[in-house]
Amino acid sequence: MPDPLPELPWDVARARVHEIRDELAGMRERTAWGQRDAGVGFVPTPEGLRSEALIREAGGLVSLEVQRRAAGELQAIDDEERVALDGRTKQEMVERLHAEAAVAMSAHQAALDEVERFMQLPAEERDVDQGVALVNRVRERGEALRVVGRRIRTLQEGEDEYALRRTAVIAAHTRAVLGEARPMGPAQGQRICWPVGNPRARSAVHEAAECFPTSWWRASEVGIPLCVDATPDRAGYSPVVSLQLENGGTQVVSLLQVSEGQPTLDRAPGYATAVHELSHRMEHVSRGRIPAAEQVFLWRRTTDLATGQRQPLEQYRQQVDEFVRPDGFADSYVGKDYGTPGGACEVLSTGIEATMGGAFGGLRGEGLAYSPDEDHRRFSIGCLVGL
Ligand SMILES: [Zn+2]
Repeated sequence: MPDPLPELPWDVARARVHEIRDELAGMRERTAWGQRDAGVGFVPTPEGLRSEALIREAGGLVSLEVQRRAAGELQAIDDEERVALDGRTKQEMVERLHAEAAVAMSAHQAALDEVERFMQLPAEERDVDQGVALVNRVRERGEALRVVGRRIRTLQEGEDEYALRRTAVIAAHTRAVLGEARPMGPAQGQRICWPVGNPRARSAVHEAAECFPTSWWRASEVGIPLCVDATPDRAGYSPVVSLQLENGGTQVVSLLQVSEGQPTLDRAPGYATAVHELSHRMEHVSRGRIPAAEQVFLWRRTTDLATGQRQPLEQYRQQVDEFVRPDGFADSYVGKDYGTPGGACEVLSTGIEATMGGAFGGLRGEGLAYSPDEDHRRFSIGCLVGL
């Protein structure tokens, strides 16, 4: 559990957040945060560690205010859910669905067996109408089985309606509180990406743009031009891509590809992944400042402070070339190691995808699949408000 924070009126908390931002403004250089180290990857400086703690303090103050403002709406959703669950816990609900799935599966198998027996009849004894009825029954029971399967998956992946509604409420208040703490979103009239590429992907990115501070967008404006497109595969951000132009020339751009990904209740499809990938854009244009802060966070979370030993790397979900330090993160992907100390990582991207887009249980343990990680939540919101 992260350190408890004092309950401050928002005016006082906001003044403290401004103080922290002024202090962090001195941490411009990447080397102020830490140094690359051949043995353990990265070693933070004392100032780096202190600054990372300040980021979490600022994020915690915002997080507390969000919690305070959202409490009434969250309570109303909880009450509704309690009525719907009718005295059962979510775990019991999953067990009940598994029992329903077992029944649906044997009903489906029984229908298949009947078709099999029908096919073994001599041709002259097969009644066409009966055959059609048997095949229809297989189809119906197969569909019923799929419906139960989907319900189990949505519950287990934390995407059930109540979890989505709660994370949407939290995200809306987070955006509002951040907007009171500093200017957020692109500057007036700023074009954030080229007017080419998939329009749906671009509208998701425009909606997601509001999650980032105006000063970060100013840094993006002077960086390599940003190009946005959709992909049916994994979303991604490539800092430097050579784009073939229609006139035969080429142009160097940064390419941000959005996939549909995690559903969000009240945002454009692809919003959560757009938020994630835009975080990588912001890392890229921050001159190493954001990645350095993330590396300090990762170091603190994945190092035995007594021995200085870092947790060993593990393969991520059977991906041959992806490695993580899983720690107690909501998802081990948070601890991804790119083998480039000081370079981009997944702390901020997953953190903002969670706090703004509801992924990973919002880092609040929403749904059944993810445990809460208030420390990571505070760090992610703290970067948005403090860097
Ligand atoms: Zn990423």
